[in-house]
Formats: sequence, structure tokens, C-alpha cells
Amino acid sequence: MIHRPRRLRLNEQIRELVSETQLRVKDFIYPLFIVEGSGIKREIATMPGVFHFSVDKLPEEIKEIKALNIKAVLLFGIPEKKDACGSESFAEKGIIPKAIKEIKNVCPDIIVITDLCMCSYTDHGHCGILNEHGQVDNDKTLLYLHKIAVSHSKAGADIIAPSDMMDGRVHAIRQALDENGFLNTAIMAYSVKYASSFYGPFRNAADSAPSFGDRKSYQMDAANSNEALKEVRLDESEGADIVMVKPALLYLDVVKKIKENTLLPVAAYNVSGEYAMLKHAINAGLLPVVAIMETMLSIKRAGADLIITYFAKDIAKELNGVK
Ligand SMILES: [Zn+2]
Repeated sequence: MIHRPRRLRLNEQIRELVSETQLRVKDFIYPLFIVEGSGIKREIATMPGVFHFSVDKLPEEIKEIKALNIKAVLLFGIPEKKDACGSESFAEKGIIPKAIKEIKNVCPDIIVITDLCMCSYTDHGHCGILNEHGQVDNDKTLLYLHKIAVSHSKAGADIIAPSDMMDGRVHAIRQALDENGFLNTAIMAYSVKYASSFYGPFRNAADSAPSFGDRKSYQMDAANSNEALKEVRLDESEGADIVMVKPALLYLDVVKKIKENTLLPVAAYNVSGEYAMLKHAINAGLLPVVAIMETMLSIKRAGADLIITYFAKDIAKELNGVK
């Protein structure tokens, strides 16, 4: 007897009936880059279709995001002034608190997640405070992460997303939030963040490239996946509510491993280099637009519950049937 799996691929209806993985608009988180100034909606050269927004241009964008039924945004701030300790990152009137307030004003029920790191705020471009030898001082940096987390929560952030990769940061941030009465502010930890060469377009967007050296002493080595599990276990024990793997596509094996070993929701970050590769190939006519959906299915199938992607609006339009 010939076994005929093709029966279940016969037509669209049957394929849909038995499909194992579904993409839903609610799975997607849309990143936004916020700059100082006014009247700015400027396309980012390295990331076609992605923009820098000044705070006053956010309402229009947020209304569009809301209309597409996207539930959450992830904010990155680009300050005007940088210094050695990234003072603008925890300023009460800093770029992110201003953006949070504006977004919540326009749309109180959109979930505001804030990236918590120092690299776009420090003049040296590293993710923490440097010691006298030019190395990132882990425990000193934790004191600053406290302040940033509290300033974002005060402004109304729903979820804090530390991306610095310092040891002990989730515990430090949880403690700071609780001590300041923000018991309900959740933590989405960039638990597994590799020192990847696929962040290039983002660093251009966020003006966060390190001025010397690299980030290999705090971000993870691409060769390792047991270490990913170790980082997730630590973040779980320190109080993370959601864990993340970044980048997504090059680390689908890691997404799967983490999903199989945690009870927490797993997010995956489809990073700027992954976005730029696909976007440029589509713009050049080398790949069809549906390649975006196949890419997202691969991340979901690997086990991601949430996907952070610059394609979120395109995907929402596709899923909502908007032409
Ligand atoms: Zn950073």
C-alpha cells in the first residue's frame, strides 16, 4: 500500500484544517525608535521601511498600530546628549519617559515595553559603566539599571526589557521595581543575547555602536547553546516574567531548546540584519513578499510565543486581509 500524505495537502481548505502552526497578530511586537526634536518621521537608511520618530509624531503611528490590532510596542530611545554614565537613560524627562506618556495618552491599552540598556546613551557606546581599565563594570552597571527601570515604570511602562547582559540584572531590576511600588511591572529579559554580527543596521538606527572593542565579554558566544539554558535558568530564578532569544533566525535551535525547558513565555527577536537581508531581497525582486510569512512561521514553529519584528505591521496587514 502506498501511504498518501498528499491527501492532506490537496487544497487550501484541507491544508488549513491540519496546519500545526498559526500566526496571530497578537504574537507580534513592533519596535519603535524615538529621537529628540519635533516633526520627525525619518526613514532609517540601513532599514528601509523603518523610521525614527520624534515624540510629537508618535500619536499618528500608534493609532495605525492600534488599528492593525498589534498589542505591544518595544521602545528604543536615542538621546541628544551622551556621557560616560548615560545620564539621559534615567532622566525623568528623558526621551523614553516622554514617549511612554505620549503613547499612553493616545492609547492607554497598548502594551508599552521599554528596552533597558545604556549603549545608545553612553559616549563610549558600551552597555554599561566602564572601570579604569576600560572594561564594563558589572555590579556598578546594576546600580544604573535600577534607576532606568524605575524611571520607565514611573512614566507608565508595562514591561521592562533589559538587554545589557550584565549578571544579576533581573534580580537587581525586580528588587528596584518592587521597592518603588511597581509590583505589576513585568520583566521581559533578553536572557539569551548573542554577540551577533546581525545587529549592524540597528546600531546605525540607535546610534549605539561601541567606540572601541566589541561586546563579546558580556554578550554570548555563537558557538554555545547549553549556556543559553543556563542564562534562562538564572533569569527565571531572578524573577523574569518572559525570556527572550536574540537573534531569532540564526538561533532557531536555541529557541526550540529554551521553549522545551521553560514554563515562561518565550520571545524571539527577528533582528535588524535578518530584517535587512529579507527586505533588500524582496525590494530587489529576488524573493516574493510571502517569504516574510514563511520566515515568521519558522520562528513560531521553533517555539517562540512572541516575535519582535520590524515586519510586524506588514504581517498584521496580511493577517487582517488589508491590501
Ligand atoms: Zn546595549
